[in-house]
Amino acid sequence: MNAPRNPYQQLVAEAEGRPFAAIVGWPVEHSRSPALHGYWLKQHHIDGHYGRLPVEPKRAALEELVAFLKRTPNARGCNLTLPHKIEIMPLLDRIDPGAQRIGAVNTVVKQADGALEGRNTDGFGFLEALRYNAPHWRAEAGPVVVLGAGGAARAVVASLVDAGVPELRLVNRTRETAVDLGVALAPRDGRRIVIGSWDERAGLLDGATLLVNATSLGMKGQPPLDIDLAGLPRSAIVYDIVYVPLETALLAEARGRGNRCVDGLGMLLHQGRPGFEAWFGVKVEVSAEQRHVAAADLGA
Ligand code: NAP
Repeated sequence: MNAPRNPYQQLVAEAEGRPFAAIVGWPVEHSRSPALHGYWLKQHHIDGHYGRLPVEPKRAALEELVAFLKRTPNARGCNLTLPHKIEIMPLLDRIDPGAQRIGAVNTVVKQADGALEGRNTDGFGFLEALRYNAPHWRAEAGPVVVLGAGGAARAVVASLVDAGVPELRLVNRTRETAVDLGVALAPRDGRRIVIGSWDERAGLLDGATLLVNATSLGMKGQPPLDIDLAGLPRSAIVYDIVYVPLETALLAEARGRGNRCVDGLGMLLHQGRPGFEAWFGVKVEVSAEQRHVAAADLGA
């Protein structure tokens, strides 16, 4: 009788000698990344594989992952999801400046010299989805309000600062976390990150071109985001990065009053593009069909 395979042996067997990458997390069974990358592999007729790798949240388990990626010739890298995005950082050979600034890695790319480089593509995914869904939005046009200061908010704020937003108003339930984020990501050219208080969040909406919910409020199992939108210009875009459900109460209300809305699915899909390109050497786009399939998969 054959001995049962461990997850690494399983992944290598599935790859059948082809170049491969995988989503690494704990748990990882419900990740949609294999469907996302599998779609692109098929679409571009690439002889490669993208699998799943459950890795326990222990340093020794992450060290085993790093050793596996380095010694396996056809391993191209991986994506990382909860709870590994920060803990992996000291184990990698290089962290690119963007990921360093955000303080988290969601993509690992094996370089030609075998070194493992950590990157963060969440900010890229956030902005690409915004540009796709609201192409008329201009970063320089006016203030932006971001709610939240967790891991996702760090990537969102960094990308908005880099895009050239003149004034970013940042609000978080725990004010100190927002202050820390504001200090860490403050632009050096005189533009401002203004920290507001959670209780006065509605008062910050005046004149905003974009409101982003980067908290977990509104997510399935969480309370809805409670915010009075009366002061928000109707020309403003409302972007909720929550993707379960796709239509949050915030988006439903904003849509009802005429604001253009962006849900979290586009960010989820677009953040996969840079990793795919680095591993498999082909530039990819997110198609309407792909979005449709992913939305159906989410039950939306
Ligand atoms: P996180 O690091 O745990 O941060 C959670 C944020 O929500 C913090 O700012 C937290 O404020 C705030 N929050 C939680 N409960 C709250 C409450 N009851 N009242 C007010 N604020 C509350 O999580 P994350 O990784 O940043 O993820 C945040 C959301 O973004 C999740 O829904 C996640 O699914 C989504 N996300 C989407 C994408 C995408 O591709 N679309 C990517 C990443 C994340 P405190 O600091 O006060 O706790």
